[in-house]
Amino acid sequence: MPDAISAALDAVRSRIDTAARAAGRSPESVSLLAVSKTFPADALRAARTAGQRAFGENYVQEFGAKASALADLDIEWHFIGPLQSNKTRIVAETAHWVHSVDRFKIGERLSVQRPTGLPPLNICLQVNVSGEGSKSGCRFEEAVKLAHELDVLPNLRLRGLMCIPEATDDRDRLAGQFARLVELFATLRAQGLELDTLSMGMSGDLECAVQAGSTMVRVGSAIFGLRHYP
Ligand SMILES: *Cc1c(COP(=O)(O)O)cnc(C)c1O
Repeated sequence: MPDAISAALDAVRSRIDTAARAAGRSPESVSLLAVSKTFPADALRAARTAGQRAFGENYVQEFGAKASALADLDIEWHFIGPLQSNKTRIVAETAHWVHSVDRFKIGERLSVQRPTGLPPLNICLQVNVSGEGSKSGCRFEEAVKLAHELDVLPNLRLRGLMCIPEATDDRDRLAGQFARLVELFATLRAQGLELDTLSMGMSGDLECAVQAGSTMVRVGSAIFGLRHYP
């Protein structure tokens, strides 16, 4: 397993580098978040040994268990799953980043629960760019107001925007949805918010996301294999 993970990480990194160069961007401008949900702590350990430092988790309980099991490693933890307001504490105390903030109440709780003495928690505002009713993320129309509200919370640092586009093979549709996030990002920066992160792109669409301007791709199955949900 360790060799397979190491080889898969190399392959993903080279996909990112190729996509960046094709877009006239520097490969270093796109970072790789390894999405490890459903995979055991040993898989993360193998990826860490292969040089991967940033890991993304989706489920609060699983995140807490892995963070304790891997406390001996230097890992940057990103929480990327839906958050309920009664389950924010472990995330506020343990994560370095949260990509899935999509309402003020969640940001407020994370800020209140962030321990003093730790650096501010980096957050991204998750925006629903596809307009699908089932999707998490704030509505596109409320994103500007919400970004400004989150930006002033004391123990958070708003770093940027995150989206999960529609699951489709239609490249034009995907590109259009990524472009909406990029445009919103530019608008917010022009309004004075110091954002540097566009969290978009997964195993199946990372080339399209990098082409559009992603600075952080969140890749799971292309690194760890197919997920089996219990
Ligand atoms: C699972 C997940 C990913 C990774 O998806 P893959 O298709 O396995 O690369 C990325 N982002 C979020 C928010 C996820 O939940």
